[in-house]
Amino acid sequence: MAENVESKENQVSRHQEVGHKSLLQSDALYQYILETSVYPREPEAMKELREITAKHPWNIMTTSADEGQFLSMLLKLINARNTMEIGVYTGYSLLATALALPEDGKILAMDINKENYELGLPVIQKAGVAHKIDFREGPALPVLDQMIQDGKYHGTFDFIFVDADKDNYLNYHKRLIDLVKIGGVIGYDNTLWNGSVVAPPDAPLRKYVRYYRDFVLELNKALAADPRIEICQLPVGDGITLCRRIS
Ligand code: SAM
Ligand code: CA
Repeated sequence: MAENVESKENQVSRHQEVGHKSLLQSDALYQYILETSVYPREPEAMKELREITAKHPWNIMTTSADEGQFLSMLLKLINARNTMEIGVYTGYSLLATALALPEDGKILAMDINKENYELGLPVIQKAGVAHKIDFREGPALPVLDQMIQDGKYHGTFDFIFVDADKDNYLNYHKRLIDLVKIGGVIGYDNTLWNGSVVAPPDAPLRKYVRYYRDFVLELNKALAADPRIEICQLPVGDGITLCRRIS
């Protein structure tokens, strides 16, 4: 009995350690994935950045280690070279991307907050991949509008990771569909939004979860109905929907 209680407590604290990033039913199963397949293969720099980020007050925002591993594999599978990231925070997904790209690979990275990016930047520099990153401080939408207007960026991105303000995802999609190349992939993150997409209307949800939920629901419906893309929604991290542009 005492042993049972202790092991339950252990599971809870270990799950907290990884930031409640999994929608898997069993915490133990998620921990198993991390300890068996993710942490042993996690590059040293990513481990260092994950540990720095864990001490930051907004650490709930970071990409989980298993999702970082997934992004890295995906980028290599599609031979991505020219990429974009909207929503950088301390840079865990950015570093995963920078490490996965070839030496001449590029990431246009945007965030309204530069301070958090600068927290992770020394680790990115030490890993020798900072030259691949073009960081722009500020809201992403005007940058996208500028690129659309410019004309020369149409159909040029192999991969775009969207992990920022959920109330703008549909606005991003309207623009990104032109910027990603045919056959390229846009990944929208947090599309299961803490499981709240299936919560009953009166469920006790945290304020920000409740606020963004309708936007996530609307996005999911719009992506499913968009004939210009093929989609695949995966229960990795907080849910990621991959959209492959087909026309
Ligand atoms: N991908 C990051 C990682 O791996 O740690 C996590 C990104 S975090 C969930 C969301 C980020 O989006 C925040 O750093 C926030 O400052 C940024 N953000 C919010 N609104 C934005 C906007 N309009 N344009 C660009 N970035 C924005
Ligand atoms: Ca995310």
